[in-house]
Order: sequence, then structure tokens, then C-alpha cells
Amino acid sequence: MRRKMVAGNWKMHGSLAANKVLLDALVAAPAPVCDVVVCVPGPYLAQAQGLLAGTAINLGAQDCSAHEQGPYTGEVSANMLRDFACGHVIVGHSERRASFCEDDSTVAIKAQRALDAGMTPIVCVGETLEQREHGQTEAVVGTQLDAVFMLLGQRIHQIVLAYEPVWAIGTGRTASPMQAQQVHAFIRQRAIRHHSNAVGIRLLYGGSVKPDNAAELFAQPDIDGGLIGGASLKAADFLAVVDAARFSA
Ligand code: PEP
Repeated sequence: MRRKMVAGNWKMHGSLAANKVLLDALVAAPAPVCDVVVCVPGPYLAQAQGLLAGTAINLGAQDCSAHEQGPYTGEVSANMLRDFACGHVIVGHSERRASFCEDDSTVAIKAQRALDAGMTPIVCVGETLEQREHGQTEAVVGTQLDAVFMLLGQRIHQIVLAYEPVWAIGTGRTASPMQAQQVHAFIRQRAIRHHSNAVGIRLLYGGSVKPDNAAELFAQPDIDGGLIGGASLKAADFLAVVDAARFSA
């Protein structure tokens, strides 16, 4: 049985004051029914590390460098994140692919760096609306996955994958549970075909997940939780999404 996971991606939101209110509310809530991760902006890692120490909520980051160390101004390495007790790091988010020109091989190297630093990469894949409408979803997602699978080899069971259709991110337009399940089943099969030890790999759905649609999505057989953007910024909404993880397949 795969344990469900809900990860919040705060993106470039927050302040010292707002973070404290949000994290205090998450920590004060009853013990979560699943693994919970909050991926905060880099400057707030130390604050979040302090507020989450000894709690059931795990700390994550939103990106790491493809380089191990060196003259890369502005970059943050996976080992640096680990120094702040980050257990997870998002790599390959569609916003980074689109706005920072990250290609599939860069994303794969970032996932490798995260694993090497002892963290779990949450590797994002997903198609644009145009690609979906042209029937290219599996081809696009398959290519994104293969780059990661080829580089990580038999370590792929150590990663978490997040299927995030680009057209559903921050748009309020969610993939239907059936649409999401179809792609998740494809992803699981592709991972198992690459290595049989990937049978239990955790697959998150991301894209406008909210308290009122989370339970139905999380109840799909190949959906093991969610990567949550907007709804992770309000404690009540995020806690309601976390609670929806009790609805298992
Ligand atoms: C995301 O940014 O990973 C995301 C899924 O955002 P939202 O939930 O706001 O669509």
C-alpha cells in the first residue's frame, strides 16, 4: 500500500510574518493522515526549519542547482538545502521549464543531485494545452520521464513524480479525475517498464487542487496525493486537502 503524500508549493509567496501564521496553524492541526511537505522559498528555509522541527510536517525546497558547487552566482545546491533539513525538493516545475528554459536533461541532473544529497526529488512532468489537444500527452510526458529514468537507473523508486498538466496550474481548471488517472496509470507503467522496483513509486497530481476536488482525485487508483500551489497558502484550505488524503483507492 502506497502512503499518500500532500506537498505544498508556496512558489514566490510569503513573508516572515505570514509564514509564521501559516506554519503555526499547520503545526497546531491534528496529526495528518498522510505525509505532508511544505516547499518554501529559499530565504525562509531557516525560519521554516525552526518552526517545523519535531513536528509531523516535512520541509522542502522548490528547486536546486544542477551543479554540485562552484562559480554559479545565485544558485543553491542540493547539499545546501540539506543543511536546512530539507527532505524534499521540487525539480522540473513547469514554471521553471517555461520561464528559466530548463530542459529534460537539466531536470534529470537536478533529480540526481537531490538524491545524491539525501533528499527526495519531486519531479514534475506535464503537457501544455496545445500538446493535449494534439493528442501528444503521452509522447511529451514519456519523453520527460525517460530523461529522468535513464539518468537515475535503478534509483527511480526513490523519487516522487508529480503529473502537473500545464493547463491546470493556477488556472482553476483541474484535470478530471479520469483524465488525471489515465496519465498516472501511463506514468506508473512507464516507470515499471524501466525498472520493476518502481511499482510502488508515488505519483502526485498537481493543478488547481482545492478542498472541493481533492478527495475525488486522491481516490483514483494511481493517484497517491497532490502537489498543491494556491491552496497551500491558506492553512484551512491546505489542511482540508491534506485531510482528503484519507480517501484512498
Ligand atoms: C503548482 O504550482 O505546482 C500547482 C499545482 O499550482 P496550483 O495548485 O495553484 O494550480
